[in-house]
Amino acid sequence: MIRYGLLTTWMVGCSWLEPAQPDVILITIDTLRADHVQALNPDAPVQTPNISSIAKDGVVFTQAFSPISVTAPAFASVMTGLEPGRHGLLMNLFRGGDPLASNIDTLAEQFSSAGYKTGAFISGYTLRADVGLRQGFDVYNALPTQNRQGLKTAQVLNSWLSVQQKPTFTWFHSYDPHGPVHRWIRAADSEVDWKRDPEKLSHFPQYQKIDDITDVRLYQELYGRGVEYADRGVGSILDMLKSIERYENALVIVLSDHGETFAERELWFDHGYSTHSEQLHVPMIIKYPGNRGAGSRDDRLVSLLDVAPTVLEVAGLPTLKGIDGKSLLGSETVHEWLAGESSHCKRVEVLPCSPHGGKGKELVIRSSTVAMVDKARDGGPSIEYYDRLKDPKELVPGSVTPSAAILTAMDDLRTARRSRDYVPLPALVPQQKEDIETKRLRELGYLE
Ligand SMILES: [Zn+2]
Repeated sequence: MIRYGLLTTWMVGCSWLEPAQPDVILITIDTLRADHVQALNPDAPVQTPNISSIAKDGVVFTQAFSPISVTAPAFASVMTGLEPGRHGLLMNLFRGGDPLASNIDTLAEQFSSAGYKTGAFISGYTLRADVGLRQGFDVYNALPTQNRQGLKTAQVLNSWLSVQQKPTFTWFHSYDPHGPVHRWIRAADSEVDWKRDPEKLSHFPQYQKIDDITDVRLYQELYGRGVEYADRGVGSILDMLKSIERYENALVIVLSDHGETFAERELWFDHGYSTHSEQLHVPMIIKYPGNRGAGSRDDRLVSLLDVAPTVLEVAGLPTLKGIDGKSLLGSETVHEWLAGESSHCKRVEVLPCSPHGGKGKELVIRSSTVAMVDKARDGGPSIEYYDRLKDPKELVPGSVTPSAAILTAMDDLRTARRSRDYVPLPALVPQQKEDIETKRLRELGYLE
């Protein structure tokens, strides 16, 4: 594998102002582990050729992390450049989290103010309009009560994008790798004698269980099929962009909001409850207009928070004010460490953790070399250290000496999170307003 390390001269000193404003295409695949993307892991047990083709034309960030291992809060950080404590989404809505406040500025609002057409095409119920991420989008196409297959979402997106005259900020969200993975079962799977161990059944969350099968191989295989299906959705969008000759000058970003734990921890095939690398290490690829830096890799520690300031700078627009993320243009170190948190803890047989609110949050401060994890156990905080160079999967706690900066950062994060409790809200008033363009598209038969 060729590693170029830090990006070099092509990023420094060049003007990012394009002759025409670039289309900005944000491609997001929910629950996609970094090790299930061939551009990041040549030994990935799946085929992701369409993501690879973007990587070939762009920059692969090998050490990108999400600030929180659950959907709506993580995407709120992408859209605002703010860490979860500042944008206020600390859990999904259905767990009692808050929607994004309307006075918080978003990437979509910034593009909209600059004259872009803005469209979001969403596949997961957890990002329905009530979550508040629709602000700034001319079209926020999400089903109110169900999930949708990525290829169907991509078709709706393609119909919209292909007729836009102005540059667009377009957000595609695939939910295909997210559980329950049983929707990817094929008839031939029933011919395999999968392991069924009653003692292991409690390691699976209820929504993932397939009968009494406990064979990790089946669940991983089904997850992988979801990833490959998601990649087809990406391919559909790429084909369309190329067919209308808007790919070359586009800024295309590929990322995931969080990963998924297989059998690394106590609870299998789930996320949201941990801060370890399989849940927070995410794929992130940026294809710049004109394919600048094509085929290079960037090993700096970066965050989903950095997406907003980076794409705004590339588009030549003012950044969002007072945000936590930093632009990735240039070659200097972006972050010495990154904070991460879980959403909640599930009090299940195999996971003896505090169930509610701030006390249930697992916290992490992660540098390039060390991960300091504060587990939220029933018995109180439990600190573990991991040597990320020797143990990048963070499987074996060890004796690592953290820097003073890491200890201070953990103290600050602990104070911010554990000092508050998150109480479920009363029922939210659904946003029933449908924008005019969505109505028109429905009349034209583009939408379901
Ligand atoms: Zn998610």
